[in-house]
Amino acid sequence: MSNKLRGVRALAFAADFPSLELARQQCTALRDEVGTLKIGLQLFTRYGPAACELAATANAALFLDLKLHDIPATVARAVTSAGELGARWLTVHAAGGSNMLAAAVAAAHGEMTIVAVTVLTSLDRADLAIMGIDDEPARQVLRLARLAWRAGVRAFVCSPLEVASLRAELGDNAVLITPGIRPAGARAADQKRVCTPADAIAAGADMLVVGRPIREAADPVAAARAIVAAIDATPRP
Ligand code: C5P
Repeated sequence: MSNKLRGVRALAFAADFPSLELARQQCTALRDEVGTLKIGLQLFTRYGPAACELAATANAALFLDLKLHDIPATVARAVTSAGELGARWLTVHAAGGSNMLAAAVAAAHGEMTIVAVTVLTSLDRADLAIMGIDDEPARQVLRLARLAWRAGVRAFVCSPLEVASLRAELGDNAVLITPGIRPAGARAADQKRVCTPADAIAAGADMLVVGRPIREAADPVAAARAIVAAIDATPRP
């Protein structure tokens, strides 16, 4: 795919809802307003494949955010299952290691792209230190991204703050996907490494993952449109 997605195609909506019914209402309202629908652990754990059907409701590509992290054979089998659900994007943790990442890539067929999650955007330096990683998140992101790239992964989740360094390291063929997006004035909540949609695009992000700033807005359609407008108005590096 081109990593120069514009407007709606560069926006992934995180459908983190407690019920399928609530999710369906908002996905219906957001039909054609978001290019990708991200189904994560909350809906998938409860509803499984039925949750994946929401992508068609939103007329969006399915991004299955399962953050797989297990032994290579188990991950490969899960990747095959995700392919049967029509996932266009599927996340795995880069921290699962080279063999696990290579097994995931080998098991992905057709249109499905494996996306390596580097360091969660909810973690900062102090969190990493407690985990025994005495380094800046940006350097750990780069370390994990290099490992994933060598294993054949070409799409990555990182915070907007690391996009420029990943782009410099991996080049234009890497697809860089960023959660931690907060329009000016939006609550960061549990996200720690955040920036605005325009700043993420200006840094070189290909796809923005946005949940609460749309989901919890008084008018989610208007919130999505404002983000798309910011994407379109911002020059790419
Ligand atoms: O509500 P918010 O905009 O923070 O949602 C961000 C979404 O991106 C959530 O669904 C979260 O699970 C996901 N995500 C993340 N950080 C990562 C990978 C995925 O926030 N590193």
